[in-house]
Amino acid sequence: MKLGAHMSIAGGLARALQRGAMLGCNTVQIFTKNANQWRAKPLSPAVIAAFLQAKAVSAIDPVIAHDSYLINLASPDDQIFQKSLHACHMEMERCECLQIPFLVMHPGAHKGKGEEEGIRRIVQALDHLHARTDEFRLKLTLETTAGQGTAIGYRFEQLAQILARVQKPDRLAICLDTAHIFAAGYDIRTPAAYQATLKAFDQTIGLERLAVIHLNDSQKPLGSRIDRHAHIGQGYIGKEGFVQIVRDPRLAHIPMILETPKEDDADRRNLALLRKLAQQQT
Ligand code: ZN
Ligand code: MN
Ligand code: MN
Repeated sequence: MKLGAHMSIAGGLARALQRGAMLGCNTVQIFTKNANQWRAKPLSPAVIAAFLQAKAVSAIDPVIAHDSYLINLASPDDQIFQKSLHACHMEMERCECLQIPFLVMHPGAHKGKGEEEGIRRIVQALDHLHARTDEFRLKLTLETTAGQGTAIGYRFEQLAQILARVQKPDRLAICLDTAHIFAAGYDIRTPAAYQATLKAFDQTIGLERLAVIHLNDSQKPLGSRIDRHAHIGQGYIGKEGFVQIVRDPRLAHIPMILETPKEDDADRRNLALLRKLAQQQT
């Protein structure tokens, strides 16, 4: 099982890997820069070397990156759209330098212009970014969303449309967030509901596109379209839903990342619970 959590980069990128290793993670997710700012100091060769060295001496592989919350590739505002393209390109370059294979990103929010127009913008942006990074190994990894506000990506069909319309779909991968899909209306609480949701994902998007899973319980009910993460087993999904995922042999090779609140050593408890759920006899 590839299990880890989103780790802070306070004190330097390499510190995130050390924090993950302390918790027994064999995968982690990071921001490669401050997620609440557009700009970032360029990565120095020393910072890159320290990061790769810390990774080499750890059991952590792969490292996943998540992009800044400011980026909106569906923005109808030309200035924000251009800023987002630029920021996303910079994040792709940072990931490539750090040998990170997946950069998770929310597809975008159409801000009232409608889903069709939002998807058109996203496709245009992805084609542009792919053309500028032709030699990169990195895959932009579109995350399923809760559909809060005007966010796109709360229906598997929307992600499938993006994949179908970009020029280079093989440069993309998909990240499934359990709290987001649940808030979007996809149930995973019982074996039957879980199987139906996974089948819908496979038939619409294709399981072979699934590269990252975010394991979060949901503070809000099924179909609420509100994105609030809860500790594993303490939200509306509940332990049984996570049992389905961590024991599904089809997902055994996929990195699973916690993005749950951080207070009071919570990562340690959530990781321990997930390991227990994965091993328990039924
Ligand atoms: Zn996300
Ligand atoms: Mn997520
Ligand atoms: Mn979320």
